[in-house]
Amino acid sequence: MDSLLDLLTNAAARAAAHREGVAERPVFPSDVDLDAVRTALGSLAEGPTPAAEVIDELVDAVEPALVATTGPRYFGFVVGGALDAATAADVLTSGWDQPAFNAFTSPAAAVVEDVAGGWLKELLGLPVGTSFGFVTGGQGANTVSLAAARHHVLAEAGWDVEQRGLLGGPPLRVVANNERHATIDRALRLLGLGTGALEPVATDAQGAIDVADLAHVLAGGPDGPTIVCLQAGNVNSGAFDDFTAAIAEAHDHGAWVHVDGAFGLWAAANPATRHLTAGIEAADSWATDGHKWLNVPYDVGYAFCAHPHAHASSMSYSAAYLTGQGQGGLRAPGDYVLESSRRARGFATWAALRQLGRTGVAELVERCCALARRFSEQLGALDNVTIANDVVLNQVLVGFGDDERTDRVIEKVQRSGECWMGATTWHGQRLMRISVSSWRTTEADVDRSVAAILAATENI
Ligand SMILES: *Cc1c(COP(=O)(O)O)cnc(C)c1O
Repeated sequence: MDSLLDLLTNAAARAAAHREGVAERPVFPSDVDLDAVRTALGSLAEGPTPAAEVIDELVDAVEPALVATTGPRYFGFVVGGALDAATAADVLTSGWDQPAFNAFTSPAAAVVEDVAGGWLKELLGLPVGTSFGFVTGGQGANTVSLAAARHHVLAEAGWDVEQRGLLGGPPLRVVANNERHATIDRALRLLGLGTGALEPVATDAQGAIDVADLAHVLAGGPDGPTIVCLQAGNVNSGAFDDFTAAIAEAHDHGAWVHVDGAFGLWAAANPATRHLTAGIEAADSWATDGHKWLNVPYDVGYAFCAHPHAHASSMSYSAAYLTGQGQGGLRAPGDYVLESSRRARGFATWAALRQLGRTGVAELVERCCALARRFSEQLGALDNVTIANDVVLNQVLVGFGDDERTDRVIEKVQRSGECWMGATTWHGQRLMRISVSSWRTTEADVDRSVAAILAATENI
């Protein structure tokens, strides 16, 4: 029988081999036979299989179907690249298997989240008293933040939503940029507010909120409990809302302001892009991802809240068998998230921040932005290619003539295996959507990707 050490060493070696080869494998496995993968996974076995065999079988079966998301030329969906220290810390997280509910279930997990959360606030320039929850990602962060918002604005109207629910309570308005991310809508569904409650606000040519229209929408409805959702980093263009003006307008109406900054909030951690987030610290809650631009492995995001009491009131619970909330003066991580038993997500985040340091995070953001500009300059210089957005961050939207041709080019690029970019529809146009968000991407990778795109535009 193999020891656990042999087993983990083998698993680590196979993961490392994948990482080492990931730059040169096809970025997307277009030719993989998924039925063969399914067959290789076998049927439910009658009895046990030795652990070492299980791992070999798993790797052999799924390797051909892996996407090179940790490689240097994956530009889809703002996927981050997984830093080395964060990856290794994530392996340890599984090895230690700590339920990060509170300081009683794991003192280590509770302290690490406390420290890493403090570092995140510092880097992102959020107010000192801000509370935070380590959630599963942007969806989790938006949902937790909006639950805190729901608690707060209804409490101000004398309504205890946790106890009484929404039925019979005061009406609650939700006002949001009409180019918000779809996870805002899903959060509203989950919170019982419904997407029908949304009052959309117009956006400008770059997809940032039109503050005059925000004022108009706010003035057009009754005063009372109101949540305004803003965006740091438009999901397509990367554009930023004007936080100073929009937050002042929303606060004039007594609204709670939530900012979805799944990737764009990281602009605040880089001196050269920080101006894009000016005024953002005046918001009431903020959502961002760890697994996107911070390059922590999936799955981690962060919900920040300027009103810790609202945050904890919306999320925490207690039960007779539970002890340890607030033990030793430590915050209980479970009081700020949706889950009770949960992965100790703080270790990988701490490792990423420790590996990069303050300047490393800034450089990562800056390098990705510079590489996005390089894409835009090189692609924009090609015949019959247009850049549809102002490239202010890491997002580049590219058109290749008409919609049909653009789709054909994107599909050809995706099949090339050289790089992978997604497709989107923005302001009525089909576009290639390039997101540069991995620590591994270099200028040479951009040049090689541009060459692949150029090749895809020929004879099409
Ligand atoms: C990716 C993204 C989300 C959702 O984040 P997940 O981590 O996928 O749940 C929300 N908002 C924006 C702007 C995003 O880019």
